[in-house]
Amino acid sequence: MSKPKVAFFDFTGCEGCQLNKLNFENELLDLLELVDIVEFREAMDDKAEEYDIAFIEGSISSPSCVERIHDIRRRSKILVALGQCAVSGGINAIKNLHPMDEVQETVYGKDKYLFPSIPAQPVSAIVKVDYEVRGCPMSAPEYLHVFKSLVLGRKPEVIDHSVCVECKLRENECVLDKGMFCLGPITRGGCGAICPTNGQYCIGCRGPVSNINKNGAVEMLKKHGFSVNEALKRMKMFSANELDKKIEWGR
Ligand code: SF4
Ligand code: SF4
Repeated sequence: MSKPKVAFFDFTGCEGCQLNKLNFENELLDLLELVDIVEFREAMDDKAEEYDIAFIEGSISSPSCVERIHDIRRRSKILVALGQCAVSGGINAIKNLHPMDEVQETVYGKDKYLFPSIPAQPVSAIVKVDYEVRGCPMSAPEYLHVFKSLVLGRKPEVIDHSVCVECKLRENECVLDKGMFCLGPITRGGCGAICPTNGQYCIGCRGPVSNINKNGAVEMLKKHGFSVNEALKRMKMFSANELDKKIEWGR
């Protein structure tokens, strides 16, 4: 039986998700033996006509990105958005909060016309996305889970509970009690609450959970002296595109 053809593509992003793969290379090497990597710009020159699984990193932020992602989608059986830029527009979407002309001028000055730019969009805004791996950078265990499941022909589990759930399961002391402004109550889990587990507060890098426990989350923040407006402001760093659509609480 032939191995599944797998390809990796990068769009607008810092390539941190690609680098994060090096943090779990042993598990990844086992997995790579079960597939044929047919396209991966950072590691090889080869090109392929079609892919069983295409992993997409980065947001769609220029007209050429739109054209390219349509082409990749046409040739892919399964398409996976990898990391928060691909899933929601991520940090790139901060530019969407300002007039595009102003953003281009700030970055490129008088050469702005040489670099056509559009608001940073998630891949799903342009083409159908089959699965997502969230996080900035993407969560390594979640990535391995999705990759393994797809190679084995299974449907990966979709995580949609808050970081607090995972934090409680790990029996962490809540960092809100230490005066830290933690976004765990409104952020989608899947990272194993890695930041609070290591004594840090969650900065919301996986975006908002789809069904926010509105009253509970607001109460929890207020009880510790934190305002909802400040939480929304902080959440914008990774979720400028998602805020209006999903967070409609306490305003
Ligand atoms: S608020 Fe933060 S530290 Fe507290 S339980 Fe939730 S994720 Fe953990
Ligand atoms: S705890 Fe929060 S900031 Fe840290 S990896 Fe998880 S979602 Fe991201």
